[in-house]
Amino acid sequence: MPSVPVQVPTPDAADRTAVRTALLDWYDAHGRTLAWRADPGETRPDPYRVWLSEIMLQQTTTPHATPYFRAFTERWPTVSDLAAADDADVMAAWAGLGYYARARNLLACARAVARDHAGVFPDTEAALLALPGIGAYTAAAIAAIAFGRPANVVDGNVERVMARLFAVETPLPAAKPELKRLAGSLVADDRPGDWAQALMDLGATVCRPGRPLCERCSLTGWCAGFQSGAPERYPLRSPKADRPRRHGLAWVLRDDAGRVALVRRPEKGLLGGMLGLPTSDWSSPTDQAAPPAPVEWRDVGAIDHVFTHFALTLEVRTAVGQGDFLWRTPDEARAALPTVFRKALDRALGA
Ligand code: SF4
Repeated sequence: MPSVPVQVPTPDAADRTAVRTALLDWYDAHGRTLAWRADPGETRPDPYRVWLSEIMLQQTTTPHATPYFRAFTERWPTVSDLAAADDADVMAAWAGLGYYARARNLLACARAVARDHAGVFPDTEAALLALPGIGAYTAAAIAAIAFGRPANVVDGNVERVMARLFAVETPLPAAKPELKRLAGSLVADDRPGDWAQALMDLGATVCRPGRPLCERCSLTGWCAGFQSGAPERYPLRSPKADRPRRHGLAWVLRDDAGRVALVRRPEKGLLGGMLGLPTSDWSSPTDQAAPPAPVEWRDVGAIDHVFTHFALTLEVRTAVGQGDFLWRTPDEARAALPTVFRKALDRALGA
């Protein structure tokens, strides 16, 4: 009979204090300098910048998000500036960050802050959570980092650190409540924003996915994963089903001037409201798909792209022709298209 993992006890007060002191000391010496963090002399960073960075970082890495963050804050320095922006401008600036529902929520949230809160972010987790596109993690992160609230900020990185620190034998996702409880036991009124960022930095640079760099970690004295000799074993995971794969066609039609035919995708659904290439329906067989123009199409191969819930193989076809489309130069198209279509366009242009 399989054994049931035993819950890890909450650490006692002395251990909590020791772990916190060690990690905060490490953070003071080795914390990352990031575009959205407080400038020297600032007590806390601007909530707008914390919010924007957290939304961007929900689906991409810090190096990838940083130029987008700089471009957004240069163009829209305050949440009220962003609230007044044109939807199309924000969507185009978001292209390359993926998952456009977030960009739509970003605008909806900026407008709610401008309209309902006079352009000032609310300072409690509960009020932040009521804003569009702000989930539990983001509300906790903004409350802790921008407002100094003792919020329990738990994402995948923090879960990994907790699973290792306490050698949690329950696999994910069942372990989530336990990992959150353990993370919460280490939160205190003293420096909550720094604590959240210290854990983020530890997870990103030392206790990273794969093999952790324990030789650089200030927590080895308390870390049960380290002491087990195999910290990379944690977090344990339940075997998960493969992501389903869908197939579709993308058509790259160019006019005599070399411009590319684009379409505006429907508001609802995947990549809603964004510019796209004409494609088939990704849920139906590709041999039943009608091309967007009655011309001779050339097959130029296929591209693969992974979305959150499925993987997509798009066969790419190209031709020269006319039609009622949104015509863009290749550079304009590349700048405006989501990554999946940019890959298909590049495939056609390189062919
Ligand atoms: Fe992670 Fe190693 Fe530090 Fe433990 S000692 S928290 S496993 S880096």
